Amino acid sequence: MSAPEAGVPVTELKGVGTALALKLERLGIHTVQDLLLHLPLRYQDRTRVVPIGSLRPGDEVMIEASVRAADILQGRRRSLMCRVQDGSGTLSLRFFHFRAAQKNSFQPGARLLCFGEARPGPGGLEMVHPEYKLLKGEEPAVMSEELTPVYPLTEGLTQGRIRSLITLALEWMKTEGFQDLLPKTLLEQWLMPSLPDSLLYLHHPPVDVDQELLLEGKHPAQRRLAMEELLAHHLSLQKARQRVQQQGAPALKASGEFSRPFLQQLPFELTAAQLRVAREVARDLQQPLPMLRLVQGDVGSGKTVVAALAALQAVENGLQAAVMAPTEILAEQHHINFTQWLEPLGIKVAWLAGKVKGKAREAQLEAIRTGEAPVVVGTHALFQDEVVFADLGVVVIDEQHRFGVHQRLSLKEKGRNGERSPHQLIMTATPIPRTLTMSAYADLDCSIIDELPPGRTPVQTVVIADSRRDQVVERVRQACAEGRQAYWVCTLIEESEALQCEAAEVTAERLKELLPQLRIGLVHGRMKPAEKADIMARFKAAELDLLVATTVIEVGVDVPNASLMIIENPERLGLAQLHQLRGRVGRGSVESYCVLMYHAPLSKQGRERLGVMRETTDGFRIAEKDLELRGPGEVLGTRQTGMMQFRIADLQRDADLLPRIHQVAADLGTQSALNEALIRRWLGTGDVYAQV
Ligand code: ADP
Ligand code: MG
Repeated sequence: MSAPEAGVPVTELKGVGTALALKLERLGIHTVQDLLLHLPLRYQDRTRVVPIGSLRPGDEVMIEASVRAADILQGRRRSLMCRVQDGSGTLSLRFFHFRAAQKNSFQPGARLLCFGEARPGPGGLEMVHPEYKLLKGEEPAVMSEELTPVYPLTEGLTQGRIRSLITLALEWMKTEGFQDLLPKTLLEQWLMPSLPDSLLYLHHPPVDVDQELLLEGKHPAQRRLAMEELLAHHLSLQKARQRVQQQGAPALKASGEFSRPFLQQLPFELTAAQLRVAREVARDLQQPLPMLRLVQGDVGSGKTVVAALAALQAVENGLQAAVMAPTEILAEQHHINFTQWLEPLGIKVAWLAGKVKGKAREAQLEAIRTGEAPVVVGTHALFQDEVVFADLGVVVIDEQHRFGVHQRLSLKEKGRNGERSPHQLIMTATPIPRTLTMSAYADLDCSIIDELPPGRTPVQTVVIADSRRDQVVERVRQACAEGRQAYWVCTLIEESEALQCEAAEVTAERLKELLPQLRIGLVHGRMKPAEKADIMARFKAAELDLLVATTVIEVGVDVPNASLMIIENPERLGLAQLHQLRGRVGRGSVESYCVLMYHAPLSKQGRERLGVMRETTDGFRIAEKDLELRGPGEVLGTRQTGMMQFRIADLQRDADLLPRIHQVAADLGTQSALNEALIRRWLGTGDVYAQV
């Protein structure tokens, strides 16, 4: 038996040369073990013949039938059309690529065994380019004895080729074995099949398998692998956390020297939720281990104050705090807040963003380097090499979502001082469903600000078709006539930012014609930061009534007088994004409205999504729904990066496994050889956490 960690190169399999190995590499398959873990996406049933009369569109089935007629049709595209029947009904087989010999073989009465997908065609159901076999004389139709797996492919690799490769790998497994990394006692306790049994079963499910269970991904063999994969993932995050925590951090005492006067000068009292979370953070900071805490709080729940308190605890101990936001507008807003709050206490706040250049930049860098500025606010610019901190104690990252897991981990390096690592506070306004915090964020502790400051009235949301645009425009006119302000958000499906901005420009022009009495401003992603900031400032100062904007710009400025938001084509946005946008209104005491102006017809899912927005303003419910409707990749914004893509696990479907996995991980403890082997098996070289 081979060592548990060591993979056997695929080229060890008969007939696998370097060319094929390169193709397999594109699928992340390097070893025979990887090949075994390359699981089917779905299955085809070639074990039985289905009567034509019972077919429904979309069915992918085997039929046995005899030819009635075959003709070449000359329509828009020449095609060979073969009508077949089986006593229960008739069906057309359509071929766009065909040879004359093929037509001739379809003699009336010829018997065919045929596999394909039934689709509605001009003359009833048809199969386009089905796989088929002519049966000679009385030759019986031979059925498969197993379900046929359908695998993820890559260019130049056919289904047939990968099926036979995996069959070879399974043969290899039968003689060489594939070591179960999970302890036997655990498998017994969970009533789960062994690894080899699970793999044999999933690659070649027997005829009598419970197909429904298999298709839903809930078969014990699948559950077992999902469980192992989630466990590997969890261990990998745990490892990342351990690595950070090995470094130690400055234990920051909470003296209250600055935080007390800070709280006293605030024009409001903290909510109970803010107090609770601030206390959790303060407790972490007193530990000699780096804090890794995620604070979730809906838009407007008052996370900035919590961040300020964390920063002050660093300053009270003579260390620095860095506060980072993902966009210039948001960073700038933090800069304004922090300056207003902290300079009266004699604390200098440095400011670093892309637009801070030349002499000004040098001055800021100097203040950061010497420690003259104990608090530093900025964008990604903070993490460039030229920025050297005197002694960084706390890092606050706002709106974590945008940064992604990779960046979050790499940021830990910055500000590392010998063996000491700064504390990290990560804040997100996009509530993350619990299942995701338990998996994607398993390396973080979590706090939730689940209460809004008093005096806010929930935003009323209206869903309306864009055929009633006139009414919407009238509504804007009315609100502004009453002295309030409004946002008009343009969305566009095109990826191109240029097109998005153009669309916003056109909308702004049209609105200016329709509403000549209003002062209308426009912000979009292609404007210079200074121009954007100027328009935002004018909107905030109520010199503009209506702000037309694209979604690329973060409408991050707090304008309590804005009580109406129109979102065009909201069906194109994720729920979390809609929730974020909507959070820009309802910040004052007047009743606020959000109008979701969709373009008909809406898909069923689209209708459901907008319905959720209308029904609730609870960010957590919205996030759960978003996860359900769009899947974790979209919700976490990591689809492109390939993170959080599981081979078999599905966070939604397998959510119930997560608490058990946490328990198992705790039981396994630091059996590092086993943990390493599990991580390597499932994450392979994709163990990005290992790179931190
Ligand atoms: P977010 O959580 O979205 O970052 P902010 O920190 O920007 O929220 O707070 C939103 C607004 O609420 C700000 O104007 C802030 O000053 C105000 N605020 C924060 N905490 C309270 C509170 N406890 N009572 C009243 N207003 C508060
Ligand atoms: Mg904020």
